Amino acid sequence: MTIPRSHPRYQSLVQREKIVEGIKNGIVALQGLIAHGRGEAFDYILGEKSHRFALEAEKAAVATMLLAKHPVISVNGNSAVLAGKELCELSKIVNAKVEVNIFHFSYERIQKIKSFLEKFGCEVLAACDAELAGLESSRRIVDSRGILIADVVLVPLEDGDRCEILKKHGKKVIAIDLNPLSRTARMADITIVDNIVRAVPNMINFARELKNFDRSELEEIVRSFDNRKVLAEAVKAIKEYLEEVASKFKIDQKF
Ligand code: ATP
Ligand code: MG
Repeated sequence: MTIPRSHPRYQSLVQREKIVEGIKNGIVALQGLIAHGRGEAFDYILGEKSHRFALEAEKAAVATMLLAKHPVISVNGNSAVLAGKELCELSKIVNAKVEVNIFHFSYERIQKIKSFLEKFGCEVLAACDAELAGLESSRRIVDSRGILIADVVLVPLEDGDRCEILKKHGKKVIAIDLNPLSRTARMADITIVDNIVRAVPNMINFARELKNFDRSELEEIVRSFDNRKVLAEAVKAIKEYLEEVASKFKIDQKF
């Protein structure tokens, strides 16, 4: 489908179209439609922009990945179609591995996501030869060269259960989640409350800048980061945005 560029919701429609295309290609699970819709709703009430708290988290996330020994980017169907190319680019700059990990498991879908990502020129792990103990969902199935041994995992559009287990396994978790109320958002070490389509390009820019920094400078960025503050600011941003819209409605009523 061609979406006219002049459409006021062009960006949002392009994302929807990518998700629908992903369903047709067998990359996105049907449930991915629902997850995307929840994300869209939060993006709407955040004003569809990268707030200061998101940029702060994106910077701290990149610093954390650059400091890590085994950083891994975990990719599911939705993240692959929305930001696969950018995630691969980021992985190269910060020297992270890319691994396919999905909730609604099938070897066929794993392979499809792997081939899709390889088109962007990155090496993709998807051996499914190890398990994360303590997790019942298929998210437990991982690659022994990737998430299993990772010290830092970037998990865009994650499920709360696995986020919890990754933490129990002693890994630092960086989540990209538009819902600051989700279990994932509250459980991650660094929560990026931003749309993945804006978050990853922002992270690429930070990565280009920060890769020339000393370890001590990167450590300082991580040390001064406060995830509780970020979450509080995200919820406040939603509240303020809604109040602003409500007051405009009131003014409109007067005239
Ligand atoms: P949790 O299990 O963490 O409480 P959940 O069950 O509400 O979360 P899931 O379906 O497990 O959510 O995961 C999808 C999450 O991804 C949702 O919180 C949704 O807001 C978020 N999401 C969807 N699309 C995007 C996007 N484009 N960018 C960032 N986040 C997104
Ligand atoms: Mg969930």
